[in-house]
Amino acid sequence: MNAEIIAVGSELLTPEKVDTNSLYLTQHLNDLGIEVVAKCIIGDDRTRLTNEIRSSSSRSELVLLTGGLGPTEDDVTRDACAAALGLTQHFDPAIWNAIIERFSRFGRTPSENNRRQANVLAGAEVLANPNGTAPGLWLSPAPGRYVALLPGPPRELKPMVQDQILPRLRQLIPPSVIRTRWYRVAGIGESDLDSLIAPVYTQFTNPVTTILAAPGDVHIHFRARTDDEAEAERLLAAVADPIVALLGDRIYSSDGATLEQTVGRLLLAQHATLATAESITAGLLGGRITDTSGSSAYYAGGFQTYTDAMKTRLLGVDPALLAAHSAVSEPVALAMAQAARERTGATYALSLTGYAEGDQAGLCFAGLATPQHVHCRQLKLFGDRHRVRGLAVIQALDWLRKTLLHP
Ligand code: AMP
Ligand code: MG
Repeated sequence: MNAEIIAVGSELLTPEKVDTNSLYLTQHLNDLGIEVVAKCIIGDDRTRLTNEIRSSSSRSELVLLTGGLGPTEDDVTRDACAAALGLTQHFDPAIWNAIIERFSRFGRTPSENNRRQANVLAGAEVLANPNGTAPGLWLSPAPGRYVALLPGPPRELKPMVQDQILPRLRQLIPPSVIRTRWYRVAGIGESDLDSLIAPVYTQFTNPVTTILAAPGDVHIHFRARTDDEAEAERLLAAVADPIVALLGDRIYSSDGATLEQTVGRLLLAQHATLATAESITAGLLGGRITDTSGSSAYYAGGFQTYTDAMKTRLLGVDPALLAAHSAVSEPVALAMAQAARERTGATYALSLTGYAEGDQAGLCFAGLATPQHVHCRQLKLFGDRHRVRGLAVIQALDWLRKTLLHP
């Protein structure tokens, strides 16, 4: 079954207000295996909304509308639906009584405007709204075609979806099994990743493959839908296994673990500890490592040395070395990592020094001190200050992860 979502409300077309209802609806529809093929936002405009309902309901089996069921003149969803589907409306005294009762519970009486909310489209089932005045409506304008009118406020919409929409949809769609797999990948950009794996996943429409990219960190999601479990697993394996082989150790987790959690698990498994010495990131790396609960079992602590003077005072970096090479250099990254390891007694130490801005923005040196050796890597990172610092943290963590994987 294909679905479309129409979010109604002029406020959703301003920069201040985000349409979150459609995300909520999409999540639940996808969980049932219903694909959302289009969604849109329409302001409180009767004609535009009428046209949109007419076209979406002719294209798709299910149309979900949210918003525009309020009592005021600009709430036009019911009227637009009636016009689009050629339906009459009638006043339902039972709904009106429920509205009067709801108001009286708050010591108020409804206004004449509220009477509009007691209008029902011909043939529609009324969806009670225990959290607001406007009931929802469910109708089937033609065999196999369904339209739902739902309230806009999320606290009214969500219970109505859970209690009244999802049970109806479950009856309409054949029972099916959905199985998913998630992989998280670091150290490769979205476009490089896509050119590597697209030749595989584009051969399959089931499972559906989704790629979610953040700087330095890409998540790949596979979702298979069939009528039995073994077949779903077989379909997942057909697309995911070759992709896993292509990506190899660039995959850092397949169970939702974050990069820093994965590093933490590896350190724990090897009874190893970690220290940090940060210049460019000034604590972001240590902060990220300690986002994970239980990190005190493997994280010793860090040195936040933003100036040259602090590199000397806290880490003992030789002022002559700083003068000769500048703080952003291989010898200084090495010295920082070495000193952090020695001064904390940790098994490993990571250091970061670099430029977040200016002519040489994105040039960074990462140091990694291990029990055997001290290594340095030059990183060339692209983006603004915020992105460069974030990428430096990811690359440092990923370098340590790979070192721990292949001791
Ligand atoms: P309405 O049903 O159009 O009277 O909507 C009432 C209120 O619900 C609006 O003022 C918004 O705050 C909220 N709302 C409406 N539509 C959405 C939406 N798509 N996503 C999130 N909030 C919404
Ligand atoms: Mg509205």
